[in-house]
Amino acid sequence: MQVFEFSKARDVAHAVQLGAQPGAHYLGGGTNLLDLMKGGVERPRSVIDISELPLALVEPLPDGGLRLGALVRNSDAANHPLVRSRYPLLSQAFLAGASPQLRNMATVGGNLLQRTRCGYFTDLSFERCNKRLPGSGCAARDGNNRMHAILGASEACVATNPSDMSVALLALDAVVQVRRRNGARSIPIGHFHRLPGTTPERDTQLQPGELIVSVDLPPPGFAQHCCYLKVRDRASYAFALVSAAVALSLASDEVREARIVLGGVAHKPWRALEAENSLRGTRLAPEDIQAAARLATHDARALSDNAFKIPLAQQVVARALATAAGVT
Ligand code: SF4
Repeated sequence: MQVFEFSKARDVAHAVQLGAQPGAHYLGGGTNLLDLMKGGVERPRSVIDISELPLALVEPLPDGGLRLGALVRNSDAANHPLVRSRYPLLSQAFLAGASPQLRNMATVGGNLLQRTRCGYFTDLSFERCNKRLPGSGCAARDGNNRMHAILGASEACVATNPSDMSVALLALDAVVQVRRRNGARSIPIGHFHRLPGTTPERDTQLQPGELIVSVDLPPPGFAQHCCYLKVRDRASYAFALVSAAVALSLASDEVREARIVLGGVAHKPWRALEAENSLRGTRLAPEDIQAAARLATHDARALSDNAFKIPLAQQVVARALATAAGVT
């Protein structure tokens, strides 16, 4: 690990001031950053400890929504009574992530920023990785790409986003609140993560020095009809091969509104808008569900090792829709 400066932020303004230095990284729970630093993948010039800032609250918002502070631990968020009762989809997604020990340390803000687990990115012995070393190539394209993207990939990168939480946040229309030296801004979660394009080294739209202070959830939480379903190689402590966050608003068993977001298939959580639209006004008959599941992957392109993800994603969407609607 290379030498770096370490400082502790006194408050949010101090954190943002320190974070404006080139090469600065914020340290919250540290579950991803420290691993990457030990492996030499991340080499910050300075690390700013924000772990004691007052950003660990879960607070109701005046509009009926809910604010999750950036430093709320994943396990605390998953088990908070207001998250469980109003946003059970999000609670399910938190509990599908990592292990209990990691959820006890990992924060909401850190979860948004966790980096891909592509093995060519995390292992310095591989020379070709555009995300780690821009312009070097992509070893996964002609290497082991079983876990990689089937949607939204580019010639430069076929990595997937590893977050479960972010998949549910997109289904729920969350908004990321950010502070910077000259003010604040709100980033809708759908615009927060990026597709790789020609610059896969950038995972999100955050600018250097910007600090995530909270994630705001609007009402409604789709509490009556939702399901987060994750398929992975192990029952616990494994990243998604495919996951789906599904939320439904029903009136007299007819779909008024549907949300379908896929995880484990793209560089960002993938919202299946055409599939959602196809369900509006239906009663979720088996043929409606199957048609939506096919639409969810109609742009999918398989790599050499991951063609199985396309039918798997369709099955995951279909199962999640049926579970959310209570028609299993
Ligand atoms: Fe690197 Fe992306 Fe290719 Fe993985 S998929 S080797 S992260 S460029």
